[in-house]
Amino acid sequence: MKDPKKERTYVMIKPDGVRKGLIGEIIKRFEQRDLKIVALEMFQPSHDDLHNHYPKDEEWITRLGKKTLSTYEKYGYDAMLDFGTLEPEKIGPEIRKWLLDFMKSAPLVKMVVQGTHAVDVVRKIAGPTMPYLAEMGTIRGDFSIDSPALANKEKRAVANIIHCSETPEEAEHEIKHWFGDGETYDYKRYGVDE
Ligand code: GDP
Repeated sequence: MKDPKKERTYVMIKPDGVRKGLIGEIIKRFEQRDLKIVALEMFQPSHDDLHNHYPKDEEWITRLGKKTLSTYEKYGYDAMLDFGTLEPEKIGPEIRKWLLDFMKSAPLVKMVVQGTHAVDVVRKIAGPTMPYLAEMGTIRGDFSIDSPALANKEKRAVANIIHCSETPEEAEHEIKHWFGDGETYDYKRYGVDE
């Protein structure tokens, strides 16, 4: 059985997190929960790096389109007016494009975070995707109020401060994509590892 303390997740501080000066605050919240930063770097991503990071499969892209349409419905906005279509498989690629443009708009900070249930605990610390729904005490709930209703109107991605992997498998895939092989470190945290 794998060592539970060695679960790893991949985190990227997005352009809004960097530009709001939240790099230290975000790392602090992981470390105070006894999670360990085992790799860390600021970088400017290329279009191709981002294009290969976000899923390209039709299912994921259509899901983005469906989520967008449900926001339009909920708030009584006219999707036809903004997108010229009501088909989720045509709206999805547009949102994916906004996301790539947003992610290229400032340097990012990438890191590998390790510890017990790192994937789930980091997502809990981050809060849900939509900041306006996030509880106070989460990163997204404390530092953003963005909503898809506003972001879609402004034709941009929802600015939600950080990206974090959804599953341990996705985490390993993303760590390999952004860090390659062997660029993480190990050390013993006082009070955690000894
Ligand atoms: P995550 O895993 O919490 O980042 O969420 P997703 O994988 O579902 O979406 C990827 C990113 O796309 C999100 O973090 C947002 O930045 C953006 N996004 C997701 N849904 C929408 C939407 O309905 N409208 C807009 N404008 N952006 C969205």
